[in-house]
Amino acid sequence: MPMIPDRGRLARDRVQQAVSQANLPTLLMVLYQLTADDRWLRDPFRPTRGKGMSDNDSGGFSQSDQEMIREQAVTAIVAWSEGQEVALPSPDQQTLVQMLGCCMGENVPQEYGEMIAEEPGLKGPQAQPRDSTGRMRPEFSAIIVGAGVSGLMAGLELKRAGITYTILEKNPDVGGTWFENRYPGCGVDTPSHLYSFSFFPRRWSSHYGKRDELAEYMRDMASTFHLTSDIRFQTEVLSACYDEAGQCWTVTARGYDGAVEELSTNMLITAVGQLNRPKVPLVPGMERFSKPLFHSSRWPSDLDISGKRVGVIGTGASAMQIVPAIVDQVSRLTVVQRSPQWVAPSENYFKPVTSEVNWLLENVPFYHAWYRLRLAWINNDRIHASLQIDPDWPHPERAVNAINDGHRRFFTEYIVSQLGDREDLLAKALPTYPPFGKRMLLDNGWFASLKRPHVDLLTGSVEEVTENGFRTTAGTEVEVDIVVFATGFQAQRLLHPLDIRGRNGITLRDVWGEDDASAYLGLTVPGFPNMFVMYGPNTNLGHGGSYMFFAERQARYIRDLAVKMGEQSIGSVECRKDVHDDYNRRVDEAHSKMIWSHRGMDTWYRNERGRVVTNSPWRIVDYWRMTRDAELDDFVCEPVVGKVTSRCGREPGHGPGVG
Ligand code: NAP
Repeated sequence: MPMIPDRGRLARDRVQQAVSQANLPTLLMVLYQLTADDRWLRDPFRPTRGKGMSDNDSGGFSQSDQEMIREQAVTAIVAWSEGQEVALPSPDQQTLVQMLGCCMGENVPQEYGEMIAEEPGLKGPQAQPRDSTGRMRPEFSAIIVGAGVSGLMAGLELKRAGITYTILEKNPDVGGTWFENRYPGCGVDTPSHLYSFSFFPRRWSSHYGKRDELAEYMRDMASTFHLTSDIRFQTEVLSACYDEAGQCWTVTARGYDGAVEELSTNMLITAVGQLNRPKVPLVPGMERFSKPLFHSSRWPSDLDISGKRVGVIGTGASAMQIVPAIVDQVSRLTVVQRSPQWVAPSENYFKPVTSEVNWLLENVPFYHAWYRLRLAWINNDRIHASLQIDPDWPHPERAVNAINDGHRRFFTEYIVSQLGDREDLLAKALPTYPPFGKRMLLDNGWFASLKRPHVDLLTGSVEEVTENGFRTTAGTEVEVDIVVFATGFQAQRLLHPLDIRGRNGITLRDVWGEDDASAYLGLTVPGFPNMFVMYGPNTNLGHGGSYMFFAERQARYIRDLAVKMGEQSIGSVECRKDVHDDYNRRVDEAHSKMIWSHRGMDTWYRNERGRVVTNSPWRIVDYWRMTRDAELDDFVCEPVVGKVTSRCGREPGHGPGVG
């Protein structure tokens, strides 16, 4: 799918047909850019503010205004296709902010202008980060651990800079999370047009893509940008050790044939995700159960669930996708809920992207960019204010501030509308903690599934696994044929089980302990020169948004630093301790005023001693600004001490890949 549509004559009736299904606030921005007629930014053509996460397709306009907008848009699009110049090809930042505010029906602060202006497809070809090819030392190389979203993005940025790199991936294919998770219903709960790389749009079949399509997208990304030949599949990194004299890392990896080898590299980039290692509680008696029992991310490919009695432990994002996906096939479904979840309505969850909408996204200039910008505004920073603890708020038992309380009313009304006729379920499923205290989930048929006669919702957790099922902490005995532990991941044990040794042989575990990871910008740790941790500590988006965005920012930052190293003959960069400590002091301080630190909140975002380890406290626009340029002043830089020859085993492209 092209980023900027090719101009070619478009038939009026074809445009008309597609525009009949357009999102009107998006279409208005197209109309304004094509014509520069500012009546499209004023009443009566200012859309209303959409409710919740709704796309607000009609913009809240009267029928006659809708028709007028469509008709004028058709005329402008056809004229453009026939050669008319775009009246506003490059809106300045102030205009972009005004436009976004207009199409969202709310105020957008000016500070977003610079970030918005980077959206590809808005202004024609984007200025790429500076290219360094020719200035890098030819022997400089990087090893990236993992070929998921982060690893592929890092590979792409290094490739763009002409830096040699190899991606070592333990699986036989790319995709990371999207390769490994195969449970029924697995997919995104961030809209797919936002959960995409900004530079690599796709013709998504539905608004919330499912696992197979996401895995294919990741494969397409790797092959389109010629990354696949630089990946060594079925190669698991076991450890990495920094060699101070050589300013390089020695990486130990086990190949597909079981052979262990050592590779040397100047730069080590871990891209292993936070949600990779399953967390299964140690419940007594598990060995007694002879039927299938597994973690949600290890769903057996040949498992037949039809007519079976299934127990699902947990009610997080994974369970919430599994339950509606299997409810029609099983004979009995028992869901064990330790904590209830806040669940938001989602009108688009199951909606396909129609061929007309895809046509608009692909053929109408600026449509894709404005559609994505609108999604970003709805899903990114908009709710950040709802997460801030107001110390003067009089009802901390139900919300952290007045906005949060408004969200509580909205979600409560929704849950009551779904379960109001089942008092028993409502009592169990309505959370008492403030909304957004745990990850917000989308209703994908969850409540409808819980109401089915063959579904039981039990509260508590599993106390013991028996020969034929399990017993809950409330003493209920359940007989099942299959047990699914949808109990989450070891998110706080970042980089577990990698053994990483930095300067003086200090291990990352020595520095971080079991669950107390910290890094400057979530990316770099004092004592570990030339090493970067993608999706590292405090980079999980707890308030919303797309991780793809963070991966793009982090990869660009690493590339920027690598380019500067090449330009200035720097052999090693090591984050300054004072910079790291000051950053993390600010992270902790920001978190102390946020919902995840609210009294009584229990979440995997926090470690044993209550520190938020996984989540970012920042708004997306803040992180965008922090990662705009890699500042060498933040690092202790050593000049190159000598020539280091990369010993990255096989030449790139000769690994046992899927090609
Ligand atoms: P999760 O959010 O950590 O949920 C785990 C669930 O298991 C929670 O309900 C938890 O209860 C429960 N649990 C944990 N230990 C338990 C125990 N010993 N006994 C009983 N219940 C227990 O894990 P997840 O659902 O796999 O999701 C993890 C993250 O992966 C998500 O937050 C999200 O970032 C990502 N994810 C995303 C999607 C998506 O749609 N894009 C889908 C799946 C996963 P408590 O709440 O009481 O801890």
